Amino acid sequence: MITIALSKGRIFEETIPLLRAAGIEVLEDPEKSRKLILTTNQPNVRVLVVRASDVPTYVQYGGADLGITGKDTLLEHGSHGLYQPLDLKIAKCRISVAVRADFDYASAVKQGSRLRVATKYVAISREFFAAKGVHVDLIKLYGSMELAPLVGLSDAIVDLVSTGNTLKANHLVEVEHIMDISSRLVVNQAALKLKQAPIRKIIDAFASAIGQ
Ligand code: AMP
Repeated sequence: MITIALSKGRIFEETIPLLRAAGIEVLEDPEKSRKLILTTNQPNVRVLVVRASDVPTYVQYGGADLGITGKDTLLEHGSHGLYQPLDLKIAKCRISVAVRADFDYASAVKQGSRLRVATKYVAISREFFAAKGVHVDLIKLYGSMELAPLVGLSDAIVDLVSTGNTLKANHLVEVEHIMDISSRLVVNQAALKLKQAPIRKIIDAFASAIGQ
């Protein structure tokens, strides 16, 4: 049995064509079904529906052989014990610093005062601001980061940005582009040894589907 961990939404949708290239059709729609283990047209391949931030954990501990997850999640979670053969170039976005349109970020950074930053990405933010020599108080949130500067919880946020529409709708502006993000294929290293042929077949099919 080959088990693939995926998260619902963007990653799931953008993975369907890659799975198809490997001859795998998922037989249930995770947006409609409440099932967490989805069957496929291949009797020996199944898909687990997990939270995006749990994908590395499932693959690391062998709950899944393969998984697809954002570079943001891998950097935040750590990628110890995970083989990362491919950048799938799906679910592309960037991780940025944003502030209220009326907040003078450049002066705040120059003055050396402590910046209050709300984010789900504490590790990425800590490293980014440390490299800039900016002192920050990091406030950990689990979602709706855009709200924090609007109610005075923080001066800035660090979050994923795709079209920029969410920032705009909340009167926030992007002031720093930290890095580009896309999703990666991750593989359990023991599974790669034990189930080498079927896993290699999937990696190779994904690679040719994305033109690598
Ligand atoms: P947008 O309005 O298109 O800039 O999208 C921003 C919102 O979508 C933010 O709340 C992000 O956390 C989320 N988001 C954007 N891109 C991604 C992605 N590739 N994966 C997960 N969440 C994303």
